[in-house]
Amino acid sequence: MKKERITIIGAGLTGPLLSIFLARRGFEVEVFERRPDMRKQRISAGRSINLALSTRGIHALSQVGLSERILARSIPMHGRLMHSRDGEFSFHKYSSDDSEYINAISRGELNRHLMDEAENAHGVVFHFDQECVGIDRESGEATFADTQTGAKAVHDSRVVLATDGSASVIRADLLRGREHSLSIESLTHGYKELLFPAGENGTFMMEKNALHIWPRGRFMLIALPNFDGSFTGTLFFPVTGHPSFESLVQEEEVQTFFAAEFPDAVPLMPTLVQDFFANPTGKLATVRCKPWYFTDKVCLLGDAAHAVVPFFGQGMNCSFEDCTVFDDCVGKYGTDWQKVFAEFERLRKPEADAIAQMAVDNYFEMREHVADPSFLLKKEIEFALEQRYGERFTPRYTMVTFRRMPYSQAQSRGEIQNDILHQLAGSVDHVDKLDWDIVDSLLSKYGL
Ligand SMILES: Cc1cc2nc3c(=O)[nH]c(=O)nc-3n(C[C@H](O)[C@H](O)[C@H](O)COP(=O)(O)OP(=O)(O)OC[C@H]3O[C@@H](n4cnc5c(N)ncnc54)[C@H](O)[C@@H]3O)c2cc1C
Repeated sequence: MKKERITIIGAGLTGPLLSIFLARRGFEVEVFERRPDMRKQRISAGRSINLALSTRGIHALSQVGLSERILARSIPMHGRLMHSRDGEFSFHKYSSDDSEYINAISRGELNRHLMDEAENAHGVVFHFDQECVGIDRESGEATFADTQTGAKAVHDSRVVLATDGSASVIRADLLRGREHSLSIESLTHGYKELLFPAGENGTFMMEKNALHIWPRGRFMLIALPNFDGSFTGTLFFPVTGHPSFESLVQEEEVQTFFAAEFPDAVPLMPTLVQDFFANPTGKLATVRCKPWYFTDKVCLLGDAAHAVVPFFGQGMNCSFEDCTVFDDCVGKYGTDWQKVFAEFERLRKPEADAIAQMAVDNYFEMREHVADPSFLLKKEIEFALEQRYGERFTPRYTMVTFRRMPYSQAQSRGEIQNDILHQLAGSVDHVDKLDWDIVDSLLSKYGL
């Protein structure tokens, strides 16, 4: 393949992984990032301190030979550990198959690892402190402002790939003045990270191999384990109203609220009040847009094309899967970039829309239903059906998280299965009471 210069804008999670895929195909790749180099300066890696990595993301990493190294630095989470208001726990496995679990990984460490690999093993060139302030989509020229000096420079390349995240400036330039659709749907809830420090000698103060969740209806707290024994908690909470980020303004209000809602968490959060006021309140939004590309010059990938809310733990996994699919398209069409981009959009846009919707739906499930007995009965029935029927009945969570089938297929099958589960859960009060003849005929009726 002819060597061509490719510019990637954004060295978050997607950009560096994409750069590795392309460098492996022989392209000269340069990545521009507005932040300083996080490997040299102690800066935050941006949103959320740790994330859940699952099958789609792992597959993409394995294609570039990185999955084992990265998984070695992650913590398996086998299920949700629910904390009730009265301090009781219940554990709910993510899968009926014990070999299926999700993995907590530090965002910063993953980001650094991907950049190291791109730079050291594949000759990708990174430029930090370079904020893209606009592109000329006709020529592919991108203008950068040096965030230290303010100096502006224009960079020319054959192709620009935008991985500059959910607030992408490239997306705005790409869509401007042409027929397009763009929707940015903000949730009425924001999020705030709160620390659960490690105990003495790095001991975990709660169950290590679980995603902890305190579901409380209109809001929830979750916590994911970190390698050093700490947990990163995230409060998903209304931005306005009562209670909300807006309504909790005094230290005592925060203390009283947490003591009432999350009593078992409070003793594990010694810096709760300081964290609550010092840490920023993050916003959550779903971004949908079309088109994702302009001629053979510019294409959006990752959150720049399709930011989703984090309740299915799929934003990064979906963005990593973008890299897999984009690489396949390059394999198919080589440097015929317009075809590459068109095929990429054709394949990925419906999938991004599907996971975006499922992620919003999952928010209601996580904060409200997970503690509801009828939801738990449905889960038990779901696992029983999976064990009896195998791939004929695969829970939606499994299809999204532990399979690589198209998200849109997981969504449509999930809807059918949900109807079935709804009917079964309405007819029995315990999974052992299922009448398998009825189940068989129900599955056949729905074409499963
Ligand atoms: C609270 C929270 C929890 C999450 N948890 C999970 C999870 O458990 N599992 C999961 O799969 N996903 C999760 N996600 C989603 C995940 O964070 C994103 O999908 C992922 O970061 C997307 O990667 P990206 O590289 O496309 O964008 P980003 O990671 O946002 O990276 C964009 C990069 O572009 C740079 N940039 C932006 N503008 C410019 C510019 N003008 N010029 C130059 N550089 C620029 C930014 O500095 C940044 O480095 C979570 C998200 C949130 C908010």
